[in-house]
Amino acid sequence: MTSEDLDFDRQHIWHPYTSMSAPLPVYPVSGAAGCELQLNDGQRLIDGMSSWWAAIHGYGHPQLTAALCEQAQRMPHVMFGGVTHAPAIALCRKLVAMTPPALSRVFLADSGSVAVEVAMKMALQYWQARGENRRRFLTLRGGYHGDTFGAMSVSCPDNSMHGLWRGYIPEHLFAPAPTCRFEDTWDAAQIAPFTQLVEKHRHAIAAVILEPIVQGAGGMRFYHPQWLKEIRTLCYREGILLIADEIATGFGRTGELFACGHAGITPDILCLGKALTGGTMTLSATLTTGEIAKTISDGEAGCFMHGPTFMGNPLACAAANASLDILEQGAWRHQVRAIECQLRNALLPLQDHPRVQDVRVLGAIGVVETRTPVNMASIQRAFVTAGVWIRPFGRLIYLMPPYIITSDQLARLTSAIAEVLTRDDCFQS
Ligand SMILES: *Cc1c(COP(=O)(O)O)cnc(C)c1O
Repeated sequence: MTSEDLDFDRQHIWHPYTSMSAPLPVYPVSGAAGCELQLNDGQRLIDGMSSWWAAIHGYGHPQLTAALCEQAQRMPHVMFGGVTHAPAIALCRKLVAMTPPALSRVFLADSGSVAVEVAMKMALQYWQARGENRRRFLTLRGGYHGDTFGAMSVSCPDNSMHGLWRGYIPEHLFAPAPTCRFEDTWDAAQIAPFTQLVEKHRHAIAAVILEPIVQGAGGMRFYHPQWLKEIRTLCYREGILLIADEIATGFGRTGELFACGHAGITPDILCLGKALTGGTMTLSATLTTGEIAKTISDGEAGCFMHGPTFMGNPLACAAANASLDILEQGAWRHQVRAIECQLRNALLPLQDHPRVQDVRVLGAIGVVETRTPVNMASIQRAFVTAGVWIRPFGRLIYLMPPYIITSDQLARLTSAIAEVLTRDDCFQS
């Protein structure tokens, strides 16, 4: 890669959440293997991000690569309208088998945000078919559900800048973010504002949508499983649907296969994505119950009104099948437990550092929340110099490494975090 290539990148290519006039630096990557990214200059970085929750088995896993190559030669893609194929059938079988028994109908789409759009549309069509005019969604502040308009409308108004879109995105209902932490003793008073919103708008709410246990991109917070249990009970009582967005938490990241497992609840609609293909291809799935599928299908439209071009993409399904096969072997459970244990030992002592507001760990997720925001360009450079790939946002420095990370590699990540805390240039004052 030449410096002209990088100039072209800077002038012509959008990168996520950075200015095109004064972009943050980007690091050219030429390859990725195991738990490492390789930069163009040959430097290798230990990966602390799993490429945004996705690469749970690390990079270049031989089973994933073999599945992709085999499927690429056979049939990378074919439309899903009017045809079906073995990779999609195998995948949906596995998804139905590994999720709670009630979730038996699967819609495949091409990204997490679309899975959320599909879930919201399912809820709306369900109520329409039942002849009830329910068009509002209730969610929690501090959440994140994606960047498309429907998903954005239920993401935290502060983070997703609802002010920018006023009059253009529907205004939904936001309950205060849970403050009772995962390990706290349960405080029943917490749920009151949520219950009040439900009672006030009970006939207008189509569904509650939330991220179970872990609020991810909206702030990396872990809340008490009892929250989820209470919401589940309330939704059953009021006849409101519950959508669980497990796009970030699914497939073992929190220590349970799905975060809903911490509370032992079954949602009416479940969104999966990110780690579904082990970080190789973009794919998502929205699962629901037979009753909801039947109600929608017996309604005015006679079908569910959605059908993306790359629905059920065979290449992505083949990768997902290989990734789920690896998960089924079960090593993830002790891998995630070992990561959790080491993250606790290494990160919790940072709690006393003057620059640190809070430290929290759940499953293979470790978060150091600082008192002031990071200086992105400097902290990124400091991490790369230290040989690690960690990408903070705002006041959050966090790790969610591939499950296959070794103890030595993880120690390099946590000591890099301890090291940057000593550097003034890595933080805004
Ligand atoms: C990342 C994420 C999404 C959006 O997924 P994309 O594939 O980026 O569209 C939705 N919900 C949650 C909880 C996520 O973490």
